[in-house]
Amino acid sequence: MNKSIRISILLVAAAVMLAFASSAVAGDMSNAGIEAARHGYDAQADTRSRPEAPSDGRQDEETTDKADNDCICEYRLYNWNSARGRTEAAEPVRKPCTEVTPDERDPLEPRCTVCRKDQVRLDPATLGMPGVKPFMVCRVFERRVRDALARIAKSGSFEAAEIVGYRPGRTRGPIKDGFRTVLSNHSFGTAIDINPAHNGLYKNCTRTDFKKTGHGKCRLSIGGKWDPSANPRRTITDDSIVVKAFSDFWKWGGDIPGGTRDLMHFSISGF
Ligand SMILES: [Zn+2]
Repeated sequence: MNKSIRISILLVAAAVMLAFASSAVAGDMSNAGIEAARHGYDAQADTRSRPEAPSDGRQDEETTDKADNDCICEYRLYNWNSARGRTEAAEPVRKPCTEVTPDERDPLEPRCTVCRKDQVRLDPATLGMPGVKPFMVCRVFERRVRDALARIAKSGSFEAAEIVGYRPGRTRGPIKDGFRTVLSNHSFGTAIDINPAHNGLYKNCTRTDFKKTGHGKCRLSIGGKWDPSANPRRTITDDSIVVKAFSDFWKWGGDIPGGTRDLMHFSISGF
């Protein structure tokens, strides 16, 4: 009798724990994922993968580690509708990390995926850039982007007004059913835009064209006009501290081959 009561109590306890665990996972995985990424950065940012669960047979620890490693990939895309000329929000995606596809990873830095759990929030206001709103960046680059921004702020020669980082969207590649099909670098948190209102994206524009008065045939496509004489402290130029601070690890979109001058943009390839 005693034994069967004990078993019943154990079964009830196990059921309560299971219910609690699954409601916690379903309830707020997004915040949990972001928090884990933020707190885990210092120890794990530069490692290729998370540590494996211990395999020494200690049942309790294995169970706990499995719960911590229940990795969920969540994101929401903002896709470019070419026919309507505007971005449109798609249905949110939520799936196990094991189902992340190759096109959902940055081709040059596969540790950065489109999933929110790989992104870390940076607050420029804490780095000497008052008034600039927080943005997200892939945690692999968090320390380097943070150091670059602190260096820019310390120089006193550039005034950041707006920074855009992680923003998942299919804004590149061929058009299918009116929508672009390839994820942008911003989708992986491996690109940032600085002061888009003063550093627009120009098309049909070689580096030579751009140096001509009036920028030759260059056509402003996204963002605001680039005019260092009007806004010297907010405009990014060849000799700007912004280009210097990022050049150790990323390239500037104003200095890439071809006809695009993306003057607000910094990323692994510059594109
Ligand atoms: Zn950009």
